[in-house]
Amino acid sequence: MAAEFLEEVSRRSGQRFEGCYHCLSCGGGCPVVEAMDYNPNQIIRMVQRGMREEVLGSKAIWVCVGCFSCLSQCPNRVHIPAMMDTLREMALEAGVRVAEPEILAFHRAFLGEVRRWGRVYELGLVLKYKLSTGKFFEDFSVGFKMMAKGRLQLLPSRIKGEEQIKRIMNGTRRLR
Ligand code: SF4
Ligand code: SF4
Repeated sequence: MAAEFLEEVSRRSGQRFEGCYHCLSCGGGCPVVEAMDYNPNQIIRMVQRGMREEVLGSKAIWVCVGCFSCLSQCPNRVHIPAMMDTLREMALEAGVRVAEPEILAFHRAFLGEVRRWGRVYELGLVLKYKLSTGKFFEDFSVGFKMMAKGRLQLLPSRIKGEEQIKRIMNGTRRLR
């Protein structure tokens, strides 16, 4: 079972994880490691050990922001962001309880805007996110300040190549 899980994560992410010698450099440079329940090298170790349920149910796979800082510091070029992407997909496919549902709601709202407009329409993103989480008044003052400074567009804008973006998005898997 351990080998099966490791093999699936390796195949789907296009990465090998045998090279990781747990030097901890990745976690040291990760900007969000404090918010994770397991640090990035622990997730690798758990994947190696076949701990499917624990990995797919972890907060860490959702908290990762894909900044590539770990990859740039890893002496073995272990591609942790690709692994985290794969694990998020596998978690959704397996229907496990998502440990950070608000982050998933944000992903969905963000991708929905890109799919609809070819870029992110910030006000639409905020409204979708608020509707799906029910947190209508959280960060209200921040949103208000952004609007006052012209950082939140009231209406969506069109981009060149909108159709190409739609085709790309339609060719990708939807986050269910
Ligand atoms: S930096 Fe690379 S080798 Fe070191 S623990 Fe992280 S993934 Fe493993
Ligand atoms: S890609 Fe993810 S795990 Fe790597 S440093 Fe950035 S947030 Fe941390």
